[in-house]
Amino acid sequence: MLRALALVLLAAAPAWGGGPIAVVTTSTDLKALVEAVGGNRVEAQSLAPPLQDPHAIEVKPRHLARLKAADLLVTIGLDHEQWLARLLHSANDPRFVRGSPHYLDTSKGIQLLQSETPRVRGEQGVHVHGFGNPHYWLDPLNARPITQAILDALARLSPANRPYFEENRKRFIERLDTGLSRWSQAMAPHRGTRVVVVHDTWPYFAQRFGLSVLATVEPVPGEPPSPAYLATLTRRMREAGVKLLIGEPSSNSSVVSQVAARSGARVVTMIPSVGGVPEAPDYIGLFDVNIKRLTEALGATH
Ligand SMILES: [Zn+2]
Repeated sequence: MLRALALVLLAAAPAWGGGPIAVVTTSTDLKALVEAVGGNRVEAQSLAPPLQDPHAIEVKPRHLARLKAADLLVTIGLDHEQWLARLLHSANDPRFVRGSPHYLDTSKGIQLLQSETPRVRGEQGVHVHGFGNPHYWLDPLNARPITQAILDALARLSPANRPYFEENRKRFIERLDTGLSRWSQAMAPHRGTRVVVVHDTWPYFAQRFGLSVLATVEPVPGEPPSPAYLATLTRRMREAGVKLLIGEPSSNSSVVSQVAARSGARVVTMIPSVGGVPEAPDYIGLFDVNIKRLTEALGATH
């Protein structure tokens, strides 16, 4: 009996040396999903804060320290984290290379949108979204493959904890499915609504909930619109009867209010990442907040 117990304890001894698995993610959304699967057997930190242009994070020494102390790095991939290459270069750690069990890119296994978009160069540097739209965590159904990939990565580092991770993920997926039917029901009367977005953050969300994105305020992701572009855009919005403009906390507020004033559209500020507002402390809460804001705004446009 004692011997059996000892064997069980031995089997439970994690490969990384004990204690929670230290995970570093590139976004608060991935952090939330890692925590949903990893529970109290992970200690996750996000390198990027929730409300900042995700494509333009400034790399700081503390990021390097966090990465070096991590057992697992979880990324969105594609060209979403252009700052990460520099960080990885500075870290110069053979564990954090593609294909290593310590490096997870969750874009694998995702059905990407806009992957046919040609790579072009904007006036201000390299065009982002050049490999498909990277904001795929905003379709709640994509949390299924993402959490599966997280589960597999965590279980590879700690095989003995696989059943615990599986149980956590199962509970999370149940909450997700309940949420999805709640959100779909709330959005059902609004299917087909035409919207304009500031940054091209919402194609996955729009596809899931039946919104039609007519245009983006940024002519190319990350590039501010010219006065001529804005004039054409607002004219098209009036002609198409677009009633809703989706901005984000990081959007340029003077551009947003200008587009709203000239098009007559109502502005709704949606939250692109977990933790962006206190009511979105986790992944499910993120959708609760956005669906609430959206349906309230849509209700008010009638
Ligand atoms: Zn983007």
